[in-house]
Amino acid sequence: MTHTDLPDGLRRWPVHPEPGPGEALTSWLGRLAGLYRLSVEQLLTHNLGAASAQFDRGADLDYQTPTIIVHALAARTGVTVNRLRPMTITGCVPWLAATLNPVDGQKAFSAYVRQDSVLLPPGQAGYHVVNRWVPWLPARSRPWRTARRVCPTCSIDPSRGVVLLAALPLMLSCAEHGCRLESIHEVRRAHRYGESMTPRPVPDAVAALDRLTFEGIATAAVTLPSRTVHVGVWLRLLRTLLDEVSMVDSRAGPGLAALLHQIWDAANLPFRAGLSFWRPYERLSPPRQEAMLQAAATAVQLAANGRIIPGGTLGSALQPAPQRW
Ligand SMILES: [Zn+2]
Repeated sequence: MTHTDLPDGLRRWPVHPEPGPGEALTSWLGRLAGLYRLSVEQLLTHNLGAASAQFDRGADLDYQTPTIIVHALAARTGVTVNRLRPMTITGCVPWLAATLNPVDGQKAFSAYVRQDSVLLPPGQAGYHVVNRWVPWLPARSRPWRTARRVCPTCSIDPSRGVVLLAALPLMLSCAEHGCRLESIHEVRRAHRYGESMTPRPVPDAVAALDRLTFEGIATAAVTLPSRTVHVGVWLRLLRTLLDEVSMVDSRAGPGLAALLHQIWDAANLPFRAGLSFWRPYERLSPPRQEAMLQAAATAVQLAANGRIIPGGTLGSALQPAPQRW
């Protein structure tokens, strides 16, 4: 869009930083408003023309932002609507989730988690009753965020923002620095008091898995050992893998039970992270979710090294590419 395309009287804001890869809308708006010494509320209440009337102070803009506001922001910053949309959870539909309505949970779970398979033959995982479910989100409670986390190294740089999906149990580390994401409150408290926060490492397999997930969020594509897949395929593959590593060994059958035990042993964690009763990943405690992610990361690493052969419908994507002579 050029200046001549803008409606009469509408001027592009003089400075408008680019959103970072995967950045949350409120994070970018905070950086933008900060340049004008305004709060996000002041920026949106007084500077969006007719769209300002649609701004609801109580709304969670990272979850959903009215279309008129997204278009008004695009016109004033030159950042395209297509770029602004995935900065909110609703804008990540359908690749993050086909629907955000938890009432469709059972159907959505069957399609997202059980339609394909990674380690196990298709159909082996069987059937579980899952009421009110949305992938990755705690569909039973109102707030969609499970954690507010940032990279302690990235957060030192004011030109970097908060990654939207780092608030979900999708990743444990910063893809660039390989250190654990930490509570945003802890990181900000440390900055306020001038304390240094030592970045904590994650296991190599987890760092590698998180790099793949972040590549998907940032570019919409994920480079797997044998082929490149769309981020929507990657997230379904990862969620299916998390389901499979949480399986009881009797459900997997004797040969595949040994494979599941091999993965948990290689991750150096108790089988199924000590889980007694199956629950969907989204309803596990944060430490169990972390252990499941570590087991999934270990499975991806073992498959890439040719130490396990994932026999599921999506398993071949994780295996090393065939040698070409
Ligand atoms: Zn970082």
